[in-house]
Order: sequence, then structure tokens, then C-alpha cells
Amino acid sequence: MKSANSVFSSLGTTIFETMSRLAQAHNAVNLGQGFPEGLEPAEVVAKAAQALTQGSNQYPSMLGTPELRQAIARHEQRFYGIHADPQTQVLVTSGATEALAACLFGLIEPGDEVIVFEPLYDSYLPIIRRAGGIPKPVRLYPPSWEIPRDELVKAFGPKTKLVLMNNPTNPSGKVWTRAELDFLAAQMRMHDALAVCDEVYEHLVYDGQSHIPLMTLPGMADRCLKVGSAGKIFSLTGWKVGWVVGNHTLLTPVIKAHQFLTFTTAPNLQAAVAFGLDQGDAYYRGLVSTLAARRDRLAAGLAKVGFDVFAAPGSYFINAGFLRLPGKPTDAEFCLDLTEKCGVAAIPVSAFYDDGQDQKVVRFCFAKTEAVIDEAITRLQRYFG
Ligand code: PMP
Ligand code: GLN
Repeated sequence: MKSANSVFSSLGTTIFETMSRLAQAHNAVNLGQGFPEGLEPAEVVAKAAQALTQGSNQYPSMLGTPELRQAIARHEQRFYGIHADPQTQVLVTSGATEALAACLFGLIEPGDEVIVFEPLYDSYLPIIRRAGGIPKPVRLYPPSWEIPRDELVKAFGPKTKLVLMNNPTNPSGKVWTRAELDFLAAQMRMHDALAVCDEVYEHLVYDGQSHIPLMTLPGMADRCLKVGSAGKIFSLTGWKVGWVVGNHTLLTPVIKAHQFLTFTTAPNLQAAVAFGLDQGDAYYRGLVSTLAARRDRLAAGLAKVGFDVFAAPGSYFINAGFLRLPGKPTDAEFCLDLTEKCGVAAIPVSAFYDDGQDQKVVRFCFAKTEAVIDEAITRLQRYFG
């Protein structure tokens, strides 16, 4: 038999699916895969239900419904002062995962170099490689996860086509500083590079900090595509409604890729997301304060158990080192044991590196109910004595 595509056939199953299946099999508290619990806004869900029974159930425009594209444009203007024409500069996708794939398939030519930052979200490398791109990883180190300026300068070269960046960052929880963004923007201008900005956690920034889209920096509007996800904004990750906003020339090949990936996205969910994006400031502020409190609750519990807990200024995730706990497992072994024997699932941070090398760090999702967080801490305390 002839061989299948080498990029995909060499891959294992994504760590999120693997750990969630394991958590289910062992009845573990699942702090692994990043999905929230107890935060779904009832009025947004009700809007989807209403649209399902009373609205259209046929193909909407491949660009997204006009209502949702207009709502996304309003959202970008309201929070960042970004002007996006809903007719030509907004594309609705089936989640950010599809948005990222469409961006990479639409922009990369075989042989193009793509700068990425490790640890990175696990869909990036396979899609870059399947598009014929060559990943140029820049490594970040805990606990600060600061951008290493020298390494970033070295990563750029004549073949650099684009930078795939994620802010706030999964898994590290990093929020890029203005100085880091300025530095990246200067390199992009110098090397005539583009950026795909995965900003799915844009509203999940804590401690009074605010999110700065790379696109808003001088000269960046024509170089950046900004990716968003309703899954994260409304704690409805199963909905898979995402989008891409940006310059029409850059967006055009992305739309062409999207038309043959998924073509379009459930119209009822689009209607509900369009409604949701116009929620008042209280909704967005409430999400931040609720999640920050849950983060603090989990961080305090993990510290008491003996983990070295890193700062988590953004996203759903807390990272923690376990070197002070007994045994000398790899992070993958640690997470396996934790799920099977202690009944708490987490994600080994090695899964976010191309070489899968042990980092001795694990990622916990804190977007859970207080009861779930407390149960996880009780189990950890019992297990580690
Ligand atoms: N990018 C990052 C960094 C993520 O953590 C996620 C989470 N699933 C996605 C993209 C994909 O988002 P979606 O569920 O909208 O496809
Ligand atoms: N983004 C989520 C996480 O990092 C998972 C998404 C998925 O399972 N594909 O946990």
C-alpha cells in the first residue's frame, strides 16, 4: 500500500484528547484540556436555541452571517479601536483552529520560514509543515517566559514569511508586554514579515493588565491577521465559532482556503455569538474577575500541596513545577500517575515542544467551578500526604 501523508501519519493523538479520555476512564477531576465549567452565559445559549428553532438552518454566506461579521467589527472597534470593514476584513470560521489552518494554508508557500514560540499550541507545527512551511522555533523559559531578544533576531532571515504568535499564550499564560510587541514589530518591518496573531484568550487577562493586539502597533495593520474565538469569550468551547480580522489583501487567500476547509459555520451559533459580542462591559469584567478568583484558588491550593506555581497573568492556565514532590518522573509520567492514581488530570508541558522533551512542568486549567477546584486540591493533598 502506498504511504499516507507523512506529516499527519507520524503524529500521535493530541494530548488534550488523550488526557480527557484517560481522565474519564479513571474518573479523575479533569484540569487537563482547556474547557471551562460553570461560566456559560445563559442568555447567549438561549439565543442559539431560539435561532435553531426560529432561524435559518441552511448554509450561511461562507464569509459568515452579516450580523456576526458586523458584531465582530464592532467588537474590534470597541475594545481596541481597530477599524475592520465587515464586508471585506472579517471572516467567520469554524473555531480558531480552522482560522489558523486557513491562515497558514492561505499564506505559506513551500519553503517559507515561519517563526513560532515554544512552548506552543499543538496545532501550529503540523499545519505549518503540511503547508510546506519551515518552523523556526524561539524558546521561552519559565517562570517569566520573556521573549529572548537575541534568539528572536536570529530566527528572522531572508526566508521569513510570517510569525505565528499567541497572546495571551497557551500553555504558559504569558501576556506579551508592550515592549516585547514593539520589538517583534520592528523585526517584522525590517524583514518585511507578516504575523498571524492567535488572540483567542484576548479577554482573559488578569490583574488590571490589558490586552494589546499586535495589529494596533505602528505599521502592523497591513501585516497582521488577528484570530479570535467565541469558545473562549463565552466559555462555550464546543461551539467552534472563530474568526479572522485583517487587511483585505492578506485575508483574501485565507478566505480561499476556508472555502474548501469548512466553507461555513452553523448559522444559529453565529446568531448567538453576534448577540453575545454586544454584551455590556459588566459581562467582560465579570468573566475576568470570576476567572482570576478561580486562578487564585487553584494557585493557593497547588502551592500548599508543594508545587512551584508560576504566575498566570492570562488564559485559562496555571503552570507548576513538581520537583519538590517525591519521585523523579518526567512531566508525562507525572501526569499519567496523577490521573490514574490521584484522580486529577493535568497536561505535561513537554507536549507543547516540538521535541517533546521533558520540562518537569505541568499545566492545570483553572476555569472550573470552585467545587471542582476544591475536590482536585483535596485529592492532591491526600495523594501527596
Ligand atoms: N489557539 C489556542 C492557543 C488555543 O488554546 C485554542 C483552544 N482550543 C485554539 C486556538 C482553538 O480554538 P477553537 O476552539 O476556537 O478552535
Ligand atoms: N485549547 C485547549 C487546551 O489547550 C484544547 C483544545 C483541544 O482540545 N483541541 O487545552
